Amino acid sequence: MSDVTLLPSVNLFLARDHGHFINGTCSPSSTSAKIKVINPANGEAIAQVSEGSQADVDQAVLSAQAGFKIWSKTSPAARAAVLFKLAGLLEQNREELAQLETVQSGKIIQISRAFEVDQAAHFLRYYAGWATKINGETITPSLPSFAGERYTAFTLREPVGVVVGIVPWNFSTMIAIWKLASALTTGCSIIIKPSEFTPLTILRIAELATQAGLPAGALNVITGSGLSGKALIDHPGTNKVSFTGSVPTGIAVGKSAMEAKLTRATLELGGKNSVGFLRDVDLDKAADGIIEAGFLHSGQICAAAERFFAHRSQIEPLMEKLAQRLATLKIGSPLDESTQFGPVTNKQHQQKLEAFFKTARNESNTIVFGGNAIDGPGCYVEPTIILANSAKDTLLNEETFGPIATFLPYDTDEELLHLMNDTPYGLSASIWTNDLSKALRLVPEIEAGTVWVNMHTMLDPAVPFGGVKASGIGREFGAAFIDDYTELKSVMIRY
Ligand code: NDP
Repeated sequence: MSDVTLLPSVNLFLARDHGHFINGTCSPSSTSAKIKVINPANGEAIAQVSEGSQADVDQAVLSAQAGFKIWSKTSPAARAAVLFKLAGLLEQNREELAQLETVQSGKIIQISRAFEVDQAAHFLRYYAGWATKINGETITPSLPSFAGERYTAFTLREPVGVVVGIVPWNFSTMIAIWKLASALTTGCSIIIKPSEFTPLTILRIAELATQAGLPAGALNVITGSGLSGKALIDHPGTNKVSFTGSVPTGIAVGKSAMEAKLTRATLELGGKNSVGFLRDVDLDKAADGIIEAGFLHSGQICAAAERFFAHRSQIEPLMEKLAQRLATLKIGSPLDESTQFGPVTNKQHQQKLEAFFKTARNESNTIVFGGNAIDGPGCYVEPTIILANSAKDTLLNEETFGPIATFLPYDTDEELLHLMNDTPYGLSASIWTNDLSKALRLVPEIEAGTVWVNMHTMLDPAVPFGGVKASGIGREFGAAFIDDYTELKSVMIRY
């Protein structure tokens, strides 16, 4: 097979002189500084976007404040209607958005279509449904009256104001949609700061949002480096930050938010997610499960698993089955529909993964499969299986965010639990077994925001998602996000 042909609209979009998206339209930057967007499949520059300056940030905040005044007064039904319309527009422009995503991130085109567009539209519709269901409650005050007077009380849920949404490069379209949908459905306005590596799709989606009827200023986009993100958080005119990204940046973002004006922050951070295979597991299902858990989008998924624990009697055959499957994966151009395994998203990340391969060798880990970068202009690395020597080895402790499954054997169930929890992180984990009652007994013992049984990585908008321990603060999805995007106002009445 060969690459799909880029749509004329994709080529036109790439060639544009991109500004930021402010006041409902493309807005030229106040400086001439530009950032090149590189296609990681071949190392070629495909577009350039503006580096956000302080003046751009000031303008975006003014726009978002004006947008908030209008959008927060828009009826819930009208807000929902705009978001439903935007979901439809994502689908109508499916191929254009998917191609843009693939050329900026290296994500294989099938995943761009299925996740970055189809799933994103599904999430958007889920959030749109909440607009008409965000309510306070009535409360009966508890204290006795002194002279026969009565009291009643109720709470209101009010949008927090201007939200800063900071988005990483791995699922730049879908994560931007989660953030704008949470903000807009609750009546907030939002300024999105995409990663400098993957800024293109959100610029196009902002245009579609205007087409869907979103008032000017409700959604703004500032492109640029992390400094633009920091300037948005530090700005006195912003009220909340919703950050998704790595743990070190998340800590910096949390500090900036506290120092700005105790700005509320939700932090969806990285992890080092564990998989435990109980002794009764079917090895074929387990090997298929590892592909799902660790190799989808080259492992560049926050919830992806990187630490695999199998019973000592099963670890060799399991790694052998996995190696057989990895050997059949078709590695190639992400625009080729038959490709199953594409590049990682940028050169720095490829180099970081190469350094992990070197560390594994230095620590005398066994490289069971892969373990090399692939020569060429693109940012490819081999899907890799590593057998560690001890729970202290680097590959079992540091997030690689790449297609590397590191294994360690265990002997008893107690040891398995200890190994799974022996990490400062706690985003997700999974256990694999035919014994459901055993699984249900283990679930409360596992320290993670999400625990899957016989599956891994699947996110559903109805099911809350977020980390415990060093993997973050706050939850997305379900009804849980509403607390983070609204203030609770209490009203008390004497009569
Ligand atoms: P980073 O933490 O490097 O960057 C995330 C975003 O923050 C980018 O837009 C980045 O901009 C911006 N940024 C950088 N410095 C600052 C700063 N000081 N203030 C404000 N914003 C800043 O993460 P990556 O993009 O490398 O993404 C990979 C990481 O994201 C992994 O650790 C992964 O686990 C995590 N992740 C977590 C998810 C979750 O839901 N828990 C989901 C997806 C990913 P720029 O890129 O331009 O520097």
